[in-house]
Amino acid sequence: MFKEEYDVIVVGGGHAGCEAAAAAANLGAKTLLATMNMDTIAQMSCNPAMGGVAKGQIVREIDALGGYAAMVTDETMIQFKMLNSSKGPAMWSPRAQSDRMLFSRKWRMVLEGIKNLDFWQEMVTGLLVENNKIVGVKTGLGVEMKAKNVILTNGTFLNGLIHIGDKSFGGGRASERASTGITEELKALGFEAGRMKTGTPPRVDGRTLDYSKMEEQPGDDNIVGFSYMPTKKPTKQRSCYITYTSEEVHKILQKGFEKSPMFQGRIKGLGPRYCPSIEDKITRFADKDRHQIFVEPEGWDTCEIYVNGFSTSLPEDVQIEALRKIPGFENAKMFRPGYAIEYDYFAPTQLKHTLETKLVEGLYFAGQINGTTGYEEAGCQGLMAGINACLRTQGKKPFVLSRSEAYIGVLIDDLITKGTDEPYRMFTSRAEYRILLRQDNADLRLTQKGYDLGLVTNERIERFHTKLEYIEKLKKFFNETAAIPEEINPILERLKSSPIQQKTKLTKILSRPQVEFKNIEKLKSITAFFEENGKNNEAIEETFIQIKYSGYIAREKDNAEKITRLENIKIPENFDYEKLASLSNEAKQKLGTLKPNTIAHAGRISGVSPSDISVLLVYMGR
Ligand code: FAD
Repeated sequence: MFKEEYDVIVVGGGHAGCEAAAAAANLGAKTLLATMNMDTIAQMSCNPAMGGVAKGQIVREIDALGGYAAMVTDETMIQFKMLNSSKGPAMWSPRAQSDRMLFSRKWRMVLEGIKNLDFWQEMVTGLLVENNKIVGVKTGLGVEMKAKNVILTNGTFLNGLIHIGDKSFGGGRASERASTGITEELKALGFEAGRMKTGTPPRVDGRTLDYSKMEEQPGDDNIVGFSYMPTKKPTKQRSCYITYTSEEVHKILQKGFEKSPMFQGRIKGLGPRYCPSIEDKITRFADKDRHQIFVEPEGWDTCEIYVNGFSTSLPEDVQIEALRKIPGFENAKMFRPGYAIEYDYFAPTQLKHTLETKLVEGLYFAGQINGTTGYEEAGCQGLMAGINACLRTQGKKPFVLSRSEAYIGVLIDDLITKGTDEPYRMFTSRAEYRILLRQDNADLRLTQKGYDLGLVTNERIERFHTKLEYIEKLKKFFNETAAIPEEINPILERLKSSPIQQKTKLTKILSRPQVEFKNIEKLKSITAFFEENGKNNEAIEETFIQIKYSGYIAREKDNAEKITRLENIKIPENFDYEKLASLSNEAKQKLGTLKPNTIAHAGRISGVSPSDISVLLVYMGR
């Protein structure tokens, strides 16, 4: 079976691996997905949820480029919410609670439906490298498989070490083996590795909870979903619930601190600061007498509950004792204890923007192995690595997204220019062009690019063009059609917006801060427009946002264009910074190590000052 050479071998069938394998195979590369367990493909290791603030935007970007995370989420969700919908559109973020088992099954069905994609279930234990070029991988059984490109997406499995109380044992996830061999080989090749940590809460039996003591959190009435394609959304939803810890719960948890792997110093790796364990929370925020707990169902057909907000690695008896003091949990039975896990990662500054390693040609890293955390962050890296590995075999130009084009661009640029020493997750604050990178316009930003690559289907591009045409038509209509004072003034008065004295263009009315589209959609002229052209809700929302925020959007575009000019000034690959005497020593050292490929990239490296950039600009002939 393995006599032939693959174009791309993807190691690991997690969120990064699935997108990588699908993208490479869909683009025509002969691809193999080698993963330790075929039954855990796209397993949600922690929270059975996709999206959320900034992460939801990433899922929509993956979708717009032709990846699958959005479609799989839409078709397996049990609840949907558009977070931050009371704020400006840059902050709107879709989030879905998924059916964990269905999610994994759906992904496997997607992958099995892709031609050019082979599967192999086994642990990859080593890499075949010749003259700093990847030529394949080898497995625990001693099987050697040849490939022009290899994408490592090992997640939390590399030398994974699980901690519960004073017990520690090897594992990549609960009940799964750790991956051994690869870290050691990579280190021998000169790669720099580190240790990180993450944790997960206990899962409990929903039949033993008293929901009457908790606040119900139903999903949105209108399920927007993630995909720009017409996916099948659920017709009903499951509710989540909110309850709280108390001082009594905290006191019980504190009893376990003497066996805590974290407080006893057995865990060396750094964990996600913004996603702290419950023991961390009660220590760091000692003044708080309670913390919120989200009670989240794991699927349609299971009573298993994910206790969001209660991540812990304290002894299992302390976990259950503390849980039972939480309102609604008095009789709770536990299915699985919470735990912490330490694993190896590789400083992402060792990568190029394509996610190919600088040290070994044809070797790519994507997902948690790069120091990130989260399914969405992993998925988008997998997609980009899969695309670029395939383009490399086809001798085509790499595909890189800039910071003003996508959160994906922000994420990859942050990783490779700044690195990370704690698990990196996406926040809206990491993006300087948030107004441009909204969840509603990911298709406008990326679908044509996905089509040009060959990932986006004809059906999707046709849908996209229909939407674009509708937007243009509607904008023209708003620009050319005037509101009549007698018809609009009663509405404006109700909205406490000053009445108009003469006919006024609808664009102007919509630009007023008090006016939402829904306030004026019943105007005779607008009703007539819908009668003639139909009602495309997605396109209407997009048009409204473009009109309402046109000033902000124009300003950000202008800023982004200025930076793009710097992106166009390339720095030769092996440029000798030592010869530029006016550069600061710190800049020389950082630039020499990180080897930025453009002036803009150099400017984002911490320690490189504006005056260092001026020196570079003068040298590069402006
Ligand atoms: P994974 O999803 O881990 O997938 C790795 C895949 O590679 C698996 O299929 C594995 O079997 C396979 N594999 C590994 N090594 C080999 C090998 N040598 N050969 C063949 N196959 C291999 N994220 C958050 O955002 N918030 C959280 O609070 C959070 N908590 C977490 C808690 C725990 C306990 C764990 C385990 C993860 C947590 N995560 C959390 C992280 C989230 O699960 C990951 O970010 C995400 O799954 C990473 O995707 P990935 O594709 O990089 O790796």
